[in-house]
Amino acid sequence: MADRDWGHCMHCRYFASPARVPMAAEEARCEQPELSRYQLKVFGASGCNGWELRPSLRAAAQPEASEAAAP
Ligand code: SF4
Repeated sequence: MADRDWGHCMHCRYFASPARVPMAAEEARCEQPELSRYQLKVFGASGCNGWELRPSLRAAAQPEASEAAAP
């Protein structure tokens, strides 16, 4: 899905999609505070290093985190 510094827009909290789980081909505004002045429209498959995990995906990401912590 994403590494620590970079991720796809469809998994990002700043991707202004109303969908709980946006798709790669979806287009929406980027509302990242430093980028919003550019009024960017990006695709779900795009990405950047301003990425932060979308809250609706946090629950889905947690099993991965606990699996990573398992011996
Ligand atoms: S351009 Fe970057 S900050 Fe904006 S929605 Fe995409 S990943 Fe998030």
